[in-house]
Amino acid sequence: MSDGTVNAHTHLYSALAPYGMPAPVPPPESFVQILERIWWRLDRALDAESLAVSARLYAAESLALGTTTVFDHHESPNLIEGSLDLLADACADVGLEAVLCYGVTERNFGHDEARRGLREGLRFLDANTRPLVRGVLGIHASFTVSDETLREVGAAARAAGVPVHVHLAEDQADVTDARARGYAGPLERLLALDALTPGSILAHGVHLSPEQVRRAHDAGCWLVNNPRSNANNRVGCAQSLAASGRVALGTDGFPADMLAERDAAVAHAGCDATTAQARLDAGLTLRAAFFGPDRPPRASPETAVLESLRADARRVAPRLFERMKAL
Ligand SMILES: [Zn+2]
Repeated sequence: MSDGTVNAHTHLYSALAPYGMPAPVPPPESFVQILERIWWRLDRALDAESLAVSARLYAAESLALGTTTVFDHHESPNLIEGSLDLLADACADVGLEAVLCYGVTERNFGHDEARRGLREGLRFLDANTRPLVRGVLGIHASFTVSDETLREVGAAARAAGVPVHVHLAEDQADVTDARARGYAGPLERLLALDALTPGSILAHGVHLSPEQVRRAHDAGCWLVNNPRSNANNRVGCAQSLAASGRVALGTDGFPADMLAERDAAVAHAGCDATTAQARLDAGLTLRAAFFGPDRPPRASPETAVLESLRADARRVAPRLFERMKAL
């Protein structure tokens, strides 16, 4: 059986979206409005049951699509404490390798929310003993946190000896925000505040110059190209990523069909076929830093398991979307 593929950036919490998530009203006209009217409302509505069902479904479907490792970026502002255990159990139960983090942010409840997110990340690093699961620390994105929080996460990541997983320059709004705070851009802000550690995972990099991509590479960071998401959100093409050889592919909440993502890198990210395949293969190198060079056996859940999980999703999703409407 062939090796599985690696999804280097995604969101397990989004798997219920195809089960009737209401369209935002009025329709979003910018990337920040997409976040405010869709994803930040969905993540506030998550409770333990909907998160567990979503994660189990995403994990099982990943394996069915041939993906054996996922790097997840998680936020559930009304269910912070213990949320990473729900995700870890969901992945471990179906046999999916996962590298998990809580995306620290201040966008709902300020600095206290950031502290709670960081505590959840550190708690999980200490408590997790699942052979298939690792933890790192996470930041949502430069534009939703203060300088103080960035320093705190960076210091904690250095003390724990783990990388940081963060959205970076996905949309021009992240660049505009960092400049308003007096930095050349969000990468320069993260570096100036020592928020990144070697091996850190920077998702997107759409609005980085080739020089900035080289700077991220020199700092020991990975970049993750998410071409389907970038095209869908109309944030632009990540053209500068070719300046680094340390670039993997992620689906950013889309199903973990990595061959579709590879093909989208050609269609939407300015890659030739060789570069797109190299990005897919680079995920294996990224994975090996966490799990070692030996590949896990490629598992594929039985159809009956998937059908049972999809039935759970149909049962739970309407209540999740009712809560979402009220938020
Ligand atoms: Zn993302």
